[in-house]
Amino acid sequence: MHTEVLGVNFDNLNMDEAVSKAYELMEQRRSAYVVTPNPEIVWMCRDNAALRESVASADLVVPDGIGVVYSAKILGTPLKSRVPGIDLGTGLFKRIAETDKTLYLLGAKPGIAEKAAENITAQFPGIKICGTADGYFKDDAPVIEKINTVAPDLLLVCLGAPKQEIWMHSNAHKLNVGLMMGLGGVLDVFAGTVQRAPESWQKLGLEWLYRLIKQPSRIKRMIKLPLILFAAVGVRIRGKKA
Ligand code: UDP
Repeated sequence: MHTEVLGVNFDNLNMDEAVSKAYELMEQRRSAYVVTPNPEIVWMCRDNAALRESVASADLVVPDGIGVVYSAKILGTPLKSRVPGIDLGTGLFKRIAETDKTLYLLGAKPGIAEKAAENITAQFPGIKICGTADGYFKDDAPVIEKINTVAPDLLLVCLGAPKQEIWMHSNAHKLNVGLMMGLGGVLDVFAGTVQRAPESWQKLGLEWLYRLIKQPSRIKRMIKLPLILFAAVGVRIRGKKA
């Protein structure tokens, strides 16, 4: 079932359901892809047609941000829960570590994916990482060829938004992978170069505030959080009047 938040259709699933759905897609091996829009991505979809189409064509769309969950509530169509992309990713890591399925890490600055691979291997014993590549490449073709040589079951595409969503959409038909996930800065988190908010902050829905304190330069990007809440209030009021 889909829930629309300001023009973006989300799958209304809790974390366990989202992990199961992603696993199912991975097993179908048809280069399906997952997007995890936060308020910034929802906002960008309003005037970036390529991003809007890439998000609309995704096989799984989960809300990675408390702002999206609040907006859905304001609109009168609540979502079951927030599904942070990093948690969806680790949910799948846990499951694939017990199988012979393979993981490929694409994105971030040179050296980061390798460090992330080391830490993921330590955290999820048994996981099979079949390749890594940094996210600062000019041509897609050699990267796609490298990925297709090992044909991973799960490919993390961590190029930041909107690049990663558009990249997955435009290259899906050339790729031989099970499932792709667009996960922004998660390789930096796994590599240990960026810290995630403590669990208590996450539970309070304050992960955005923690990121803002750690990286004040993100203020321009984070302003999208209140903007989508105001937009949701506007839609709700207009809807009620109508
Ligand atoms: N990145 C990349 N290639 C690019 C631009 C960005 O690999 O051409 C990486 C960047 O190094 C970082 C990630 O994409 O690891 C974006 O992280 P950010 O924190 O902006 O994403 P968020 O988690 O906020 O979506």
